[in-house]
Amino acid sequence: MFTGMEQSLIPAGKLWLVGAGPGDPDLLTLRAARLLGSADLVVHDGLVGEGVLALIPPHIERISVAKQRSRHMMRQDLINALLVRETRAGKQVVRLKGGDPFIFGRGGEELDAARDAGIAVEVVPGITAAAGCAAQAGLPLTHREDASAVSFVAGQCKDLTDQDWSGLAGHGRTLVIYMGLATAPAIADKLIADGVSPGLPVAVVERGTAADARVLRTLLADLGDLVAREKVQSPALIIVGKVAARADALDCLGAPGVAAQIRDFT
Ligand code: SAH
Repeated sequence: MFTGMEQSLIPAGKLWLVGAGPGDPDLLTLRAARLLGSADLVVHDGLVGEGVLALIPPHIERISVAKQRSRHMMRQDLINALLVRETRAGKQVVRLKGGDPFIFGRGGEELDAARDAGIAVEVVPGITAAAGCAAQAGLPLTHREDASAVSFVAGQCKDLTDQDWSGLAGHGRTLVIYMGLATAPAIADKLIADGVSPGLPVAVVERGTAADARVLRTLLADLGDLVAREKVQSPALIIVGKVAARADALDCLGAPGVAAQIRDFT
């Protein structure tokens, strides 16, 4: 006879959608660090830094759902199903994602799946790449003199041409492009075609907050060439706007006077 006791014998599982920050383990929240030490299972992305993964004690089960550029990634519905199944089995499941779970991290989809399944779920914010990479580069995303609005855009979107990008960059605004390496030349062309000045400063931050991070600075018209010339690797962030000229960075146009040109930009 079913008594209802069977269900209560399974300890209550819980899913935690946790932001791992931009890479440097020192930039984890205290809550994230605590959860990494007490979880039963950690399900993580490829973007989570080695230093962060090293904080997971060896006895804690770990599953990588890393997404390769080849696009042979674990499908999102399979990840959702895995998270629900393991949580229902009574585990404390940490879903560890680069940056913040809700900024281009599909955390919203995982939250929906958890709610639909009726499992306990909590979100732990992380420092998103834009904030972490910019701060590390000495680049204020807003500044009373230069920018009072910031936009985060996914550069891999296929429909670049469908939108008017002129409202995203230019006077008084900062544009931060995630996942924009492959489309950098098209993005620069599109912004310029939509009326943004080709002389607007740009900073490209590669592996932001890592010990070997690179910060490259140029002007919008040179963005595509810079990415190719410097063989910029993923993960990288593209920051477009007057504040980019404030970055503690290499100036990469290679021509004399470029730094002065960037600083004099108005
Ligand atoms: N949820 C993440 C973003 C995931 S999308 C967050 O909040 O940061 C992945 C993109 O984030 C990369 O293609 C890159 O554009 C950016 N990114 C993440 N970490 C980065 C890092 N350490 N340095 C530069 N860019 C980074």
